[in-house]
Amino acid sequence: MTDAPGIVVTGASGRMGQMLIETINASDRATLVGAIERSDHPWVGKDLGEMMGGASSDVVVTDDALEAFAKAQAIVDFTSPAASVEFAGLAAQARCVHVIGTTGFAEDELQKINAAARHATIIRAGNMSLGVNLLVQLTKKVAAALDDDYDIEVIEAHHNQKVDAPSGTALMLGEAAAEGRGVSLGEVADRARDGITGERKRGQIGFHAIRGGDIVGEHDVLFAALGERIVLRHVASDRAVFARGALKAALWGQGRKPGEYDMLDVLGLTE
Ligand code: NAP
Repeated sequence: MTDAPGIVVTGASGRMGQMLIETINASDRATLVGAIERSDHPWVGKDLGEMMGGASSDVVVTDDALEAFAKAQAIVDFTSPAASVEFAGLAAQARCVHVIGTTGFAEDELQKINAAARHATIIRAGNMSLGVNLLVQLTKKVAAALDDDYDIEVIEAHHNQKVDAPSGTALMLGEAAAEGRGVSLGEVADRARDGITGERKRGQIGFHAIRGGDIVGEHDVLFAALGERIVLRHVASDRAVFARGALKAALWGQGRKPGEYDMLDVLGLTE
């Protein structure tokens, strides 16, 4: 018997799901106690270890999230927005910490997660890496130090399977830049320019999404003025950085009071 918190991974067969399972299995600070896939998925009812191409394990993949959550202290969830909203309600019922790495939420979905956080400890971040969360703080500081003479553009690149754009991380960086400038991102964001767009408007924050091959995740925040450019850059070369961050969040959340937190809270980077 161990005191290590029991963790359930949702979307177990996904790119991040498998990385999370490997990370938890390699850690002595947490125990994998469940793996969720949707009901029509071929892994359901099968041994998780064997499905991942290794030795058999104690975990059988299930589609019964509530039953699995009831045996866990934390859920680590990198799936889809609709699935994460549903899991947030179930995690709240089961009194589990819910770590949400999923991106691409619509406003009404975020409100539902916010409602679940009245009863549950939710840690949600569009990027769980230490490096990106430091970059968020740097972006805010640089944006606060520079005026509108510096045009801000957020440029991101991801693999060709990614379904949402701009990335959750790009939006986090855009929010940080807007906050540093004391403006609302909704009012200054310029997404996906195409055609005769006219000149760039002063004060806008532009977004650009590159999609190709197996790029894990790259983000530049560009501050361009007459005669000089500042570029803040983060390059993720291994998905393990997100999985390690998510595990850290699941452990940090144990015993925390209900509410919605992010990785800046987990990493102690809030000001
Ligand atoms: P992926 O390979 O497509 O994996 C998603 C997994 O979730 C799939 O196994 C999918 O199953 C499963 N899923 C979807 N709906 C489900 C449901 N209702 N019940 C159970 N399982 C369900 O995608 P990924 O690259 O791992 O990324 C997943 C999410 O994490 C994306 O939103 C991505 O942007 C985000 N992400 C965040 C970070 C971060 O640091 N925050 C880092 C990387 C990725 P099916 O195949 O059956 O649909």
